[in-house]
This record gives sequence, C-alpha cells and structure tokens, in this order.
Amino acid sequence: MKQKVAIITGGSSGLGLATARKFTQQNIRTYIIGRNKEKLQDVAALLGSNCTALAGDVSLLSTLPDLVDQVHHEQGQIDILVNNAGINLKKPLTEVTDEEFQRIILTNLTSVFSLTREVAKRMIVQGAGSIINISSMTAHYGIPKVIAYSASKAGIEGMTRAMAVDLSPSGIRVNCIAPGFIATPMSSAALDNDPERKQKVLSRTPMGKLGKPEDVANAAYFLTTEEAAFMTGVILPVDGGNSIGF
Ligand code: NDP
Repeated sequence: MKQKVAIITGGSSGLGLATARKFTQQNIRTYIIGRNKEKLQDVAALLGSNCTALAGDVSLLSTLPDLVDQVHHEQGQIDILVNNAGINLKKPLTEVTDEEFQRIILTNLTSVFSLTREVAKRMIVQGAGSIINISSMTAHYGIPKVIAYSASKAGIEGMTRAMAVDLSPSGIRVNCIAPGFIATPMSSAALDNDPERKQKVLSRTPMGKLGKPEDVANAAYFLTTEEAAFMTGVILPVDGGNSIGF
C-alpha cells in the first residue's frame, strides 16, 4: 500500500507533537508546521525519517498555498491534514483589545479555513482525504477570561460541519476532536498559576485527571483510518468525561 502523507500544524509541541509521533510510528509521512524553526527541526530529528519540518506561520495566510505546494511537489499527494496549531489568550473580556481578538481568530480559525481550502484542492483531485480540526471545551460551555479563544473554537466546530458537507461528495471526510484538559505547555500556562481553575477542571472531569497528549493523538489516528470510513462532520470529545461531568 502507498505510504500516506500528512500535514500537522503545530506539530512541534503538545497535542501536535504526540500526533506526529503516532503518525510516524504508523508509517505515515508527516510534515509538521510551526513558527520556531529550531524547535521544529529538533522534533523532526527525534521522530526520524518519516517526519519533515516545514517552518511556517499559519497566520500568514498568503504563504499557505506555497507550503501546500511544497508538500505536494515532494510527495505527489496529501492524504491527511490536522489543523492543530492554536494560541490562547487569558484575559478579562473588557481588557481584550480588538487587535488581540483578531489575532486569535486569525491564528485559530481563519488559517484553518485557508489551509483547508488549499489542501482540499489537492484532495478533490485525488478523490480522497481526511481532515481533522481541533476545537476545545470552550466551544461547549462558557469558561471565563477566554473570549476570543472561545469564539475561535466555536467557529471551528461550525466550520467542521460545513466542510464535511461541502467535501463529502469528493470523498473527503472532515472531523473534529474536542479535547478536554490535556497536559501540555498551553494548559500549563492557563492552569499552573490558577489553582482555583485547575480544581474546577478536575472536579468536573469524571475521570479526575488531565488527559495525556497521546489520548488525542490516538483519536486523531483512528479518524484517519478505514475504521472511521463512515464518520464525517463528527465532534469527538476526548476529555475524560469533562463535557458531560456535573
Ligand atoms: P502548545 O502550545 O503545546 O502547542 C502549540 C503548537 O502550535 C506549537 O507547535 C506551536 O509552535 C504551534 N503554533 C502556534 N501558533 C502558530 C502559528 N501561528 N503558526 C504555526 N504554528 C503555530 O499547545 P497544545 O498542544 O496544548 O494545543 C494544540 C491545539 O489543541 C490548540 O489548537 C489548542 O487550542 C487545542 N487544545 C488544547 C487543549 C489542552 O488542554 N492542551 C485543550 C483543548 C484544545 P510555534 O510556537 O513554534 O509556532
């Protein structure tokens, strides 16, 4: 069978890194995108010959067609896209500037549209593909002090359904993982200096702990496989029960 080719944005840390590790272990040729070139190259070296570092900033929308062209030129196909890169901003609503709000939306939401459009053009010609977006519990219930992040993640879930109906006729499946609270540098920044928030998170998570990046990586891999062949437009919580906890 031909080796599959994947692009993972934000593949140098946290959930993206764990997903890149899973994919490369499953013999998927994996391109990881991130802004910090050195960090990206270190991760690619760690993951071995199935992994390629592709330095780039997803918020620079005009650069995205070239990044996609480069992967397609080198591999002749793109089978999987994981739109994982994201940034957070924890601040009271009244202190968030318009510029800050726009910056979060640009990185977390607009870039997902732009990159997906470019990759979908290739997948439509192939007649197949699997796209995975990453949302968050902020799309499911209100969390204080993350107004822009919440808007971006709610947008991701709406866009996932719209993408799924637009692209299904071309054999492309689009699904979304809604992680609960997973131990990564991003969640550390939000929780480590805020014991009250951390306690709240744990107390409403029936499994009583933070998830591991591998928990999300395993779900992402599953969604790319034939085992998930009839799944599209799904929002899959990977959250230890956080979204249904009391
Ligand atoms: P990390 O901060 O650990 O990693 C973020 C990754 O995204 C890094 O590789 C970073 O690399 C990259 N990145 C950030 N901005 C850009 C950009 N403009 N262009 C390209 N790459 C970028 O975060 P997590 O692993 O925790 O989060 C990954 C995703 O999961 C995010 O979308 C987040 O919202 C979501 N999520 C995380 C949860 C958690 O509990 N951890 C819960 C719910 C959702 P670099 O800085 O070098 O660009």
